[in-house]
Amino acid sequence: MTSKLKTYQAPKFIFVVGGVISSVGKGIAAASIGKIIKSRGYKVSNIKCDMYVNIDAGTIRPAEHGEVFVGEDGVEADQDLGNYERFTDQVCTKDNYITTGQVYQEVIRRERNLEYHGEDVEVVPDIPNEIIRRIKNCQKKNKSEVTIIEFGGTIGEYQLLLFLEAARIMKANKPNDIFFVMASYILAPKLIGEQKSKPTQFAIRTLNSAGIAPDFIYCRSEKPLEEAIRNTISTVCSLPKERIISAPDVYSIYDVPVNFEKEKFGEVILKTLGLKSKKKNMQDWVAFSQKIKNIDKQVTIGIVGKYFNLKSCIDTYISVIEAIKHASWYHNVKPNIVWLDSEKYEKNPEKLKELKKVDGIIVPGGFGARGTEGMILAADYAHKNNIPYFGLCLGMQILTISFARKILRNKEVNSTEFEEGVKHPVICTMEDQIDKIHNKDYGGTMRLGAHIAKLSKGSLSFKAYQKENISERHRHRYEFNNKYLEILEKNGLRIAAINPEHNLVEIVEVKGHPWMVGVQFHPEFKSRPLRPHPLFRDFIKAAIKNQ
Ligand code: GLN
Repeated sequence: MTSKLKTYQAPKFIFVVGGVISSVGKGIAAASIGKIIKSRGYKVSNIKCDMYVNIDAGTIRPAEHGEVFVGEDGVEADQDLGNYERFTDQVCTKDNYITTGQVYQEVIRRERNLEYHGEDVEVVPDIPNEIIRRIKNCQKKNKSEVTIIEFGGTIGEYQLLLFLEAARIMKANKPNDIFFVMASYILAPKLIGEQKSKPTQFAIRTLNSAGIAPDFIYCRSEKPLEEAIRNTISTVCSLPKERIISAPDVYSIYDVPVNFEKEKFGEVILKTLGLKSKKKNMQDWVAFSQKIKNIDKQVTIGIVGKYFNLKSCIDTYISVIEAIKHASWYHNVKPNIVWLDSEKYEKNPEKLKELKKVDGIIVPGGFGARGTEGMILAADYAHKNNIPYFGLCLGMQILTISFARKILRNKEVNSTEFEEGVKHPVICTMEDQIDKIHNKDYGGTMRLGAHIAKLSKGSLSFKAYQKENISERHRHRYEFNNKYLEILEKNGLRIAAINPEHNLVEIVEVKGHPWMVGVQFHPEFKSRPLRPHPLFRDFIKAAIKNQ
């Protein structure tokens, strides 16, 4: 008789650490590793460790550190959790996100509760131990067979040391279950005309000095890795050449897992981890990454926002951009996204005319009064000129204010966020936020995470979702003021969704306009490459029609 007893397989952990420079796609690498291992039938989870002392990303300016990604459970996290969700199609929670702040907060809380039983509490080992506890907790809760842990920042940063120490301790205890990927960048200065491995060698040495030897080197570069460079790195690290992965620039980030498979990285990882190679299931993804390369028709979407001041808007609005891409590709067009700084419309309303050139307008999330008058002008313009408009959270509030100013024939219509004591607060402070704002209790206190809503039949939104009950992720302190519901509804604003528990307006639509929809939530977080969000899908459809 053959035994059906499964042998116990210890959970495996892969740490991803950056070398040389940041912002070269370490998050995409970690997400892609999750994707290829999952596609071979293993349970995976991804964790992001950020070195900052913030408890979460909720209080960080988006133009500084990129979008704040919101999970189902309300976690306000680094944008990389969005990459993990989009690639592995799995929901991330608070367990998938660790910061220095959380670690210290927990250690200090336990010290105050006498949980260290009178011992002195030390940075080492108590801080690394708490990091390890958190990593293991995430693995246990998700029952993941492989957990991928990405460290923010680049090797050589002082603040990374305690996280590296945690990883080193894990490796020392379970040498066969812990692995390291160094995600490096291979420079190829024009002046020299060839790739250079020295910066990567230094990065590896720095990792070595923390007591860690990498198992894989993931080499980002403009062109494919030159064989000589692969040989050098292989020798320096005493690693077989197959573990030096070439990761040249790609057409889209969604090509990365496909390229991994071309390089047989999936096989190599599983072999190194001592896991059986199961059949891979990536056909859909491969077909999708092929399809998007062959699209040449375009749709132009204008994003009217305000977080454009620093180097790039891509990080700030990453989930919105990806959701636009998913929906556009679904309709076989590629998006041409134009960045429109709302403040310029305030200074010069003539500039609004440029909106004629876009096929659809998105007003994304945001906080504070700056730039909102310009956004209201843009919403007016979209309304008058029948340009499809999609308002995301703040964008829904903007739509409501612009609409109400017309109906109430009054300039004194606004949100209490932008103008305290305004005569007609059509957007008002949520009841449970009043004390929080007054006491400056800002961290993690907004209306956060997944909440349900009931759609009204006959609305554009119902048509998109094709169902009555939905759940979407939120992040806001202000809401539609129900005192104005009747008058606005009577005059052409459709209340397309309500949260039945608290009677909050979740979606508004402008009747008679081809597609003008504002949602109090953030649909962008739930869009997937192979499953565009229904509202983005229909918004892009309307934009194409408007061409
Ligand atoms: N500032 C608005 C609020 O707090 C909108 C928030 C957002 O766009 N996420 O309600």
